[in-house]
Amino acid sequence: MPLPSAENASPAMAQWFELKHQEPDALLFFRMGDFYELFFADAQAAAMALDIALTSRGSHNGEPIPMCGVPYAAAPAYLSRLIRRGFRVAVAEQTQSPQKGQKGPLPRAIVRVVTPGTLTEDELLEAGQANLLLAIALGTNKRSKTIGAAWIDISTGSFETTSIEKTSLPELIARLDPAEILSDPPLIPPDFSLRLAPVASIPSLDSARTLIARAYDVAQIDALGDFSEEQAIACAMALNYIQRSQAGALPRLSRPIPQGISGILGIDPATRASLDLLKTRDGDTKYSLLNAVSRTVTAAGSRLLAQWIAAPLTNAALITDRQHAWLWLNKSPDLIHSLSQILKKTPDPARALGRLSSNRGQPRDLATIRDTLIAADHFTDFLKPLCNDEAPPLIQTLTTGLYQRAETLLTKLKTALAENLPARIEDGGFIATGFHKELDHFRTLRDESRRIVAAMQSQLSEKYGITTLKIRHHSQLGYVIETPAAAGKKLKDRPELSFRQGTANLARFSTEELAELDRSILEAADKASALERQIFNELSQDILNTPELDEIAEMLALLDVLSSCAILSENDEWTCPTVTEGTEFSLKACRHPVVEAALLESGSADARFIPNDCNLQADQRVMLLTGPNMAGKSTFLRQNALAVILAQAGLPVPAKSAQIGVVDRLFSRVGGADDLARGRSTFMVEMTETAAILNQAGPKSLVVVDEIGRGTATLDGLSIAWATLEALHTQLGSRTIFATHFHELGALTEFLPRLAPYTMAVKEWRGEVIFQHEVKPGSARKSWGLHVAKLAGIPQSVITRASRLLASLEKEQVQARSSLPLFEDTLPDQRDEHIPSVPPNHSNILELISSLNPDELSPKEALEKLYLIKRLE
Ligand code: ADP
Repeated sequence: MPLPSAENASPAMAQWFELKHQEPDALLFFRMGDFYELFFADAQAAAMALDIALTSRGSHNGEPIPMCGVPYAAAPAYLSRLIRRGFRVAVAEQTQSPQKGQKGPLPRAIVRVVTPGTLTEDELLEAGQANLLLAIALGTNKRSKTIGAAWIDISTGSFETTSIEKTSLPELIARLDPAEILSDPPLIPPDFSLRLAPVASIPSLDSARTLIARAYDVAQIDALGDFSEEQAIACAMALNYIQRSQAGALPRLSRPIPQGISGILGIDPATRASLDLLKTRDGDTKYSLLNAVSRTVTAAGSRLLAQWIAAPLTNAALITDRQHAWLWLNKSPDLIHSLSQILKKTPDPARALGRLSSNRGQPRDLATIRDTLIAADHFTDFLKPLCNDEAPPLIQTLTTGLYQRAETLLTKLKTALAENLPARIEDGGFIATGFHKELDHFRTLRDESRRIVAAMQSQLSEKYGITTLKIRHHSQLGYVIETPAAAGKKLKDRPELSFRQGTANLARFSTEELAELDRSILEAADKASALERQIFNELSQDILNTPELDEIAEMLALLDVLSSCAILSENDEWTCPTVTEGTEFSLKACRHPVVEAALLESGSADARFIPNDCNLQADQRVMLLTGPNMAGKSTFLRQNALAVILAQAGLPVPAKSAQIGVVDRLFSRVGGADDLARGRSTFMVEMTETAAILNQAGPKSLVVVDEIGRGTATLDGLSIAWATLEALHTQLGSRTIFATHFHELGALTEFLPRLAPYTMAVKEWRGEVIFQHEVKPGSARKSWGLHVAKLAGIPQSVITRASRLLASLEKEQVQARSSLPLFEDTLPDQRDEHIPSVPPNHSNILELISSLNPDELSPKEALEKLYLIKRLE
């Protein structure tokens, strides 16, 4: 519904129109007393999204104005639902309290625009996940291939920037998984277009530089670091957007820290999607790698671990630095468990700081900072005696950060804060008695007067002989004497009482004395709460002026991640991998941590995860894996890719031992990725992804692919799989695990020297197939497709019919193949000229024999089969 014209609007609605024009793309939360009200199309959209009643209020140009409202006190819950559904919300507050005799609407202003990438409230954020706003910009030379990116987590104040090739943008976006993106829309891959902010004003280079310098109060941005043109523009876009969303104020942000992406393992979006690193495709976190390996106990720790997993390193020395740190902690199990106990009591200082700096802090944020400082003290006590010069470098960095003291602040917070803290500043009572004399004085005055009122109640009830007489506080009348209506009649003539209100049931009176007390209580309470807010602001300022806190918060998160690794590796089933600059790849008894956890959770007796080795040494770079569906191929493929992620993130891996030469790019294509929504068929997606591998993989990469060529006709598919396998083996030289259901490819192992055949062990027992989930050398003899179909519950009649069809189709295929010179022309360089035009057919003969049931064959049929076998030979 388009916005109606503002002409002839009532004064209140005219104000609404004015504010709405300031933020036309956001729903306007218009504060009216205890409610936020929404009007016109905003009301219709919000009522639908929130499932609340849509009504109307007054009329505009003769039409009723659609309206809905949410209570102020419950606003965070409603905001969170709207933000999750992709809305942005502009919050307009009254900027003055009602004055006596004031005419017209109260002045209002937009104090904030709530958008997915600019949240600070706990209610609106996931504790263990970063919440990023990402800005993307081109430099002044629009034809340049380089792009600037800047990302800010306003909830913690972190701010980073980088320059990348345009082609790497999808990978960066997938890694950061931002909540909101500012960019020229064509630059953004379609999968992320829903996260684009509606307006992204792109500043000129000069105005970008000025904006950044102003935000950090420096004369030139060079004072902050060395930024390229595109980085400066991207940083300014992000800053500008945040400033706008916070009604001009900028919260505390670190200076933009330039990040290289060269030291980070290349993981393209398809690989990331296939590995469920931080969440699964449906957005769930339970069956993610992060969840399976995390033993962190704080939200900040969980966020840092997520960052490590999302961006594994490629520098072996940096990886071993991380390993040495947790191995050091691992030496004293008592220590890590005590650390974990203290960490559990450490709240989330980074987010508390974020809220305090954007003026949205609450009393419990002060307590968070107090508890953080107390925890840092504890850790210092624990670590100092243990940590000498021989401790690993990362532990030294950690302790240097943690040993910092903010004693004055801690003492102040300890004495200032009351034991029980209210949720909101307005509730009052969060400053301890004894901290501030004047505050104590007003509180005594307020409480004393309340006591006097209570005493008056019994005096008056005795004086007038009305036992049911009460003194109550009434929102409009202040303190009043309340009696039942009948008793009230007797009091009406009393000169000291003035009758204020009567209903069928009760009568209300006030007295001069009560009015006086009312005034002094109100005055004292007002003064007390104003003073409390002032003290709150002073404490906030003290906190924000303590730079050590940022580092302490960072080090606590690091400590949490390192203890998490130490706890995980206490169990022999997790090991510290040897990571080198070479190209080795050897995993002993490796497991898939997520599938393993799911099996354990299922509680079934035979649900034990079977570990498998994987060796891709120089003379066996490429593993060709065959085996039926459900035998565990995808699990095996993924577990090797996950081992690389974990190893290069500096974490323990689920294996008995592991040697991994640093992988530069990881490609995982496992599990179907339909993209029908974007109009690309499964096969098109598959081919695009295969092309990406063939164009980018190199000798230091790891490629794990499942069933290339499955999406098209058998012979097309087989040829594509064949040629891809050859390219990976001979031209690209990547470490590769290539799973396929084209058993014919097994023949290639004779001709490609570094290709080794492996298969998933399957046992047949009384006509049933048992998957052993074990990877062993060799090739699969048959697909067992019909067995899997039977397991899945396909009716026996269909299975029997399918078996017959299979036998005759195989016969036809065999005949067809023997006349196909298909692959000879496509061999690279004629290098492998001995490769036969078609792979040998023994497997078909074996399959045919095993599909026969002699008891069911007539003599004539048996003879026919025999002829068939003869032809297949
Ligand atoms: P495929 O890719 O061959 O069709 P999957 O890898 O999807 O098979 O595995 C099918 C199921 O088998 C998994 O969901 C898991 O429950 C089980 N499975 C796979 N690998 C193992 C293993 N190594 N040990 C135990 N169970 C396994």
